[in-house]
Amino acid sequence: MHTKLIVVTGGVLSGVGKGTCTASIARLIKNQGYKVTAIKIDPYINIDAGTMRPTEHGEVFVTEDGGETDQDLGTYERFLSENLLKDQNITTGQVYETVIHKERNLEYNGKCVEVIPHIPQEIKRRIRATCDSMKADFCLIEVGGTVGDYQNALFIEALREMKLEGDAVIYVHVGYLPIPGNLGEMKTKPLQRSIRDLNSMGIQPDFVMARSKKPIDEVRKQKISLMGNVRPEDVISAPDVKYIYEVPLLFEKQTLCSKILEKFGLEYKKDTMKEWEELVEKIKKADRKIKIGIIGKYFDIGDFTLEDSYISVIESIKHACWHNSSVPEIVWVDSKQFENDEKSLSKLDDFDGIIVPGGFGSSGVEGKIEAICYARENSIPFLGLCYGMQLAVIEFARNVCGLEGASSTEVDENAKNPVIDILPEQKQIIEESHYGGTMRLGGYKAKLAKGTKVMELYGEEIVSERHRHRYEVNPEYIEKLEKEGLRFSGKSPDGILMEFLEISGHPYFVATQAHPEFKSRPTEPAPLFDGLIKACIKSKA
Ligand code: GLN
Repeated sequence: MHTKLIVVTGGVLSGVGKGTCTASIARLIKNQGYKVTAIKIDPYINIDAGTMRPTEHGEVFVTEDGGETDQDLGTYERFLSENLLKDQNITTGQVYETVIHKERNLEYNGKCVEVIPHIPQEIKRRIRATCDSMKADFCLIEVGGTVGDYQNALFIEALREMKLEGDAVIYVHVGYLPIPGNLGEMKTKPLQRSIRDLNSMGIQPDFVMARSKKPIDEVRKQKISLMGNVRPEDVISAPDVKYIYEVPLLFEKQTLCSKILEKFGLEYKKDTMKEWEELVEKIKKADRKIKIGIIGKYFDIGDFTLEDSYISVIESIKHACWHNSSVPEIVWVDSKQFENDEKSLSKLDDFDGIIVPGGFGSSGVEGKIEAICYARENSIPFLGLCYGMQLAVIEFARNVCGLEGASSTEVDENAKNPVIDILPEQKQIIEESHYGGTMRLGGYKAKLAKGTKVMELYGEEIVSERHRHRYEVNPEYIEKLEKEGLRFSGKSPDGILMEFLEISGHPYFVATQAHPEFKSRPTEPAPLFDGLIKACIKSKA
């Protein structure tokens, strides 16, 4: 295999920003002129992230080919500006499923199938297959969890074996250095211990990323170098920064990319990060405040979990704001309050714009519909995403078309006016409880209508966005809805499925059945988010 591998492991704590480190290194190498891709390893038994609650696991990121993957793939895509595929998220479940399937098919020729060597063998096969199919010069491989966990040990073992088998591999270990409040001093011991753990698994890191609140000083760098058996210049300071997009530049300053290339015997080119520097400049210079309310069913969850559950939506808002010299202020609005207290709807006047994002089930739905109604009637810029679009249709059906009891069959199976109904091909899937990986998933094309807001924003007639849903606008109601002024401005190319809607005469009332948030990039915001922020600015003026 000609692909060079950069393995990223974590130590001390989870959630220290391994994903951002991985994505930042990937971007630096890409700018050296290489084809770079990335793999995320998740040690859970789930085949994919699709069956997990986002508040449990974070956002389910949807790839172009319909994978329901870990949110880190979203981070990689945003930093790399490359589309990744579903096979780039490997889980324990996938690996065991294949091994057991092969065993049942006698593919092991009568051998006793063992955890070692057969599980690492399958892991290595998957990694090599992805690298080959992506024709990548470099592949970053991030191992979920921390070193020392039982769950990821077989993955780390496979990654050790790859070097032994002649693949070009380097190892990057990301660990946290706490500054205990009572001491006020940065401690290196937990990181030292986690390097030892990695050593005990047969791996010597080539680089150590010292994640902490503050930059690491020379004394501590020397200590980690000595105890961790890495050159002092290969201990990289990775302090907290205000914007994650600063991280590649932080690493570049420490000549990390040149040191990585050196380990592979490759030449380093100077000054390849100009465009990225401009992006960070733009982010730092932005000064116009835009306040966006995200309306959802948020109960007893806590803000941190929410950030993860909607990370692509949040990043899309940021990208669009920065692009328009603005700084977003994002507020979580619990839709349930509108169900109990109608007066609380006036709180929405505080926002420059509101978003109703994707969701499932009936909880909080009535409150979201109230909020959409308020935005429509009070000219507050509104963007509806997936469920957000379906609820906008329900709102319009009830309050403008006078269709009593209009609802989605997801919420009310016996709705009098089921304006949102299950996609025909989904009926049997649900009846048989085949939930995993069976929604309408991934990139699908839509044809936009000329002269519409949506067409103006995309600037082309045929567009493709990613999807994740089972329900659709019921074709039987389309004529009635359109007659009353709800414009379906984008449809599937065969004209059957409603993909985009808008209302003219409103500053911005746009919704889509898709999830445009999955394709937003820091250097290229998603058109519908850009449109929302532009409308917010205009309404504010
Ligand atoms: N629950 C809706 C459906 O399945 C919307 C899904 C979503 O918002 N991702 O169609």
